[in-house]
Amino acid sequence: MNDLHFSCDCKEVTAIAKTIGRRRFNRVICYCRDCRSFAQHLGRDDILDAAGGTYLTQMPPALFEITKGHENLACLRLRSKGMYRWYTTCCNTPIANSIPGLPFVGVFDHNIESNLREIENKIGPVLGAVHRRHATGEVSVTLRKKAEATLILGVLFKLLRWKLSGLTAPNAFHPTKTKALKKPDVLHKK
Ligand SMILES: [Zn+2]
Ligand SMILES: [Zn+2]
Repeated sequence: MNDLHFSCDCKEVTAIAKTIGRRRFNRVICYCRDCRSFAQHLGRDDILDAAGGTYLTQMPPALFEITKGHENLACLRLRSKGMYRWYTTCCNTPIANSIPGLPFVGVFDHNIESNLREIENKIGPVLGAVHRRHATGEVSVTLRKKAEATLILGVLFKLLRWKLSGLTAPNAFHPTKTKALKKPDVLHKK
């Protein structure tokens, strides 16, 4: 099958993404402080690139399904209004980011079981880098080719298309608009 397979480092948690067309995926590297703090809080600097970025594949929720290990999933929010950030308690692997009501999940590429060539064949290349000004080092020239504004507009356009295509639900992390799969811990209460 063409599906993409995901697993945490110890393989207790597994998931799949149904790869129905490349346009259903948006691959970016995020250099924002929050994505970095999340990885660092879990002691997972190893998933960051040399400039402190995280590789994320964003997709509509309906394509992403957790196939095993729900009991090992936990949720963290850096602030009370922050994104929902999902990780595993079995091996501290960051899994994904989500926002209730928004038609996307951003899955950490670290968990994809395929090699780079397979990933690119199935869902396309990394399109570029966002939040570059917060990078902790030099962002590579290839990643700087596409303007951030273009990338962000592209994401917004995709979000709209995913919503209009009815791919907002089911959402593995948010069974309903007001209910999360696990109650998040809030790191900074203010
Ligand atoms: Zn694990
Ligand atoms: Zn980020």
